[in-house]
Amino acid sequence: MSEVLVLVDHVDGAVRKTTTELLTIARQFGEPSAVFVGSGFDAAKDTLAEFGAAKVYRIESADVSDHLVAPTAEALAQLVERTSPAAVLIASNAEGKEIAARLSIKTGSGLITDAVAVAADLTTTQSVFAGSYTVQAKVTTGTPIITVKPNSATPEAAPAAAADEAFEPTISDAARAAKITERKPREKTGRPDLTEAAIVVSGGRGTNGDFGPVEAFADALGAAVGASRAAVDAGWYPHANQVGQTGKTVSPQLYVANGISGAIQHRAGMQTSKTIVAVNKDEEAPIFELVDFGVVGDLFTVLPQATEAIEKS
Ligand code: FAD
Repeated sequence: MSEVLVLVDHVDGAVRKTTTELLTIARQFGEPSAVFVGSGFDAAKDTLAEFGAAKVYRIESADVSDHLVAPTAEALAQLVERTSPAAVLIASNAEGKEIAARLSIKTGSGLITDAVAVAADLTTTQSVFAGSYTVQAKVTTGTPIITVKPNSATPEAAPAAAADEAFEPTISDAARAAKITERKPREKTGRPDLTEAAIVVSGGRGTNGDFGPVEAFADALGAAVGASRAAVDAGWYPHANQVGQTGKTVSPQLYVANGISGAIQHRAGMQTSKTIVAVNKDEEAPIFELVDFGVVGDLFTVLPQATEAIEKS
């Protein structure tokens, strides 16, 4: 059975859910081999084994981990040459997409970005024009390199050995030109990661810059906080929390949109949520076309009441 290389997305060995999704997808068309760059492998090993990584290529060289994406692309290109994998799967985030693009050039292979599904015959599905159309495509040249959006698959455990092998790639001077000089950990909010949360509570322009009620409601539910682009552009919430076409894609069990009109670019990032609730004072707001439950009302009245009710229950 061919190997399928899966680039592990992790923070100090804490494997992100996107990687367990990629391992699950990879098992459809080969034997997953995880590629782990940086330190913290001991913390990651059990998760990689649980979700089916038969092998793990461990790249600990500072020539790779202390630099931006170019050395990772070179290391992957060398692994592609050595293993002739059925495909390379990478998480669809800014870093992952840049690595994938560089890898595609280096290996002369076709690249598909932002897949939302990958079938057993490696046909991918992409959602384009803010979710208005779906497109199916397949790589016909070289090794298929595919970046997959978070929440495109449900991670399924399938225990495997995760037998690790130290891999020492040869990294060019050019790839080492950009070096990481400092890492600033993201401010800890105690809330779950936006793309991995089971519940997301978002605020838009209707918050008028006061995210207090949105955050309190999110905390009562143990949810992540999201924001519309209008709220982000106004400087009310960080871009890292933006949901939508030019932000993150979320697909939680429950999405609660507060003071968000439901523009197509916002929908593009949340419309696959399992249950959608909106609080909006305008009963004509387009978001109500999409919701499972809608509350026509002022979020500054509705959210504190809802928060209190949840905290009492
Ligand atoms: P508005 O559209 O102004 O809506 C505010 C809503 O709040 C209204 O429906 C109003 O009735 C309601 N409201 C006001 N006060 C209250 C209150 N007190 N209580 C309850 N409801 C209240 N947008 C994104 O979100 N994500 C993206 O990634 C994104 N990418 C884009 C990419 C491009 C190329 C372009 C052109 C646009 C993009 N946008 C994106 C912007 C998008 O088109 C909308 O402008 C934006 O989503 C609007 O944000 P909003 O719903 O918060 O604001």
